[in-house]
Amino acid sequence: MQHHKRKALALISGGLDSMLAAQVVREQGIHVEGINFFTGFCVEGHTHAIRKRDARKPKRNNALWVAERLGIKLHIIDIVEPYKDIVANPKHGYGANLNPCLDCKIFMIGKAAEWIAEHGFDFIVTGEVVGQRPKSQRKETMPLVARASGARDRLLRPLSARNLPATLAEREGWIDREALYGFSGRSRKPQMQLAARYGFSDYAQPAGGCCFLTDASYATKLQDLWDHRGSKRYELDDIMLLKVGRHLRPRPHFKMIVAREEGEVRFLEGYRKQFTHLRTVSHSGPLTLIEGETDDDDLALAAAIAARFSQGRDADTVEVSVHSGERTTSLHVRPLGAEQVQLAWYV
Ligand code: SF4
Repeated sequence: MQHHKRKALALISGGLDSMLAAQVVREQGIHVEGINFFTGFCVEGHTHAIRKRDARKPKRNNALWVAERLGIKLHIIDIVEPYKDIVANPKHGYGANLNPCLDCKIFMIGKAAEWIAEHGFDFIVTGEVVGQRPKSQRKETMPLVARASGARDRLLRPLSARNLPATLAEREGWIDREALYGFSGRSRKPQMQLAARYGFSDYAQPAGGCCFLTDASYATKLQDLWDHRGSKRYELDDIMLLKVGRHLRPRPHFKMIVAREEGEVRFLEGYRKQFTHLRTVSHSGPLTLIEGETDDDDLALAAAIAARFSQGRDADTVEVSVHSGERTTSLHVRPLGAEQVQLAWYV
């Protein structure tokens, strides 16, 4: 009988667990390719590339880095549109912040299941570990994800497989179950040991999860956006902008995005045509975008706040130019006091 090399599709987030999972399966002679989903909320290679603070960190897309390191092909799939409904209406609810992890996993693994069916691959590999995350990686949720995604027993979690029922790949002997792992719980030690064994170093170590939705301050800003739009709608630009700058809402009907440093100024420059924006003229200061409908009184307040973030914060007056479409006006304002800026409600 001709030997047929089995093929697996590994979900690659850019973190260590999925990297290890893919490698464990590769080691068993399986042809592995990676898949990575772009939701717009991903942490990878975006803010790191913008902020100067992180300039020393290598600017890289971690999923690509993992694929390169493993020598596997990576398919990056844009799921921005269908993902909106997952974030707005997760059937299984949110985690600690606005992270719909369980629905997110079901969705991504479901997409992977469609992909393998179309491309003649045999099974799916994820880096999930039983008990690692309080909600989405509990022992009970593992079969739920497998079932609800439609992947069923074509879903292998090599790092926790020994704690779970044998899947198709194990039963068919494509994979030796004895060579898989039985990690569980929140400890990262077994993963770090395995990484050391493979000689993996310099891998990404995301704090909370693979995306910004697990971040409390990001979630606050997204919730604010939804509250003021009156529905859980967003565009890709909205969720990108929530990653950048200081967000203030001085009045319910408008908000300000103030760059915190040069990298953010450059990023926000790209949006200035779409927004009314402010620049300080008499003193150097950051670019500020205004979102919402504003009248003259609102703009005077916004200018006084922007002045507070400029080098003229202690001056009697600061000149601020207001750019709205083709129109530019000049305002002379007294910088708002620090306490009053606090009252301007940081989002
Ligand atoms: S952290 Fe974000 S990307 Fe990761 S499973 Fe949760 S919602 Fe999905």
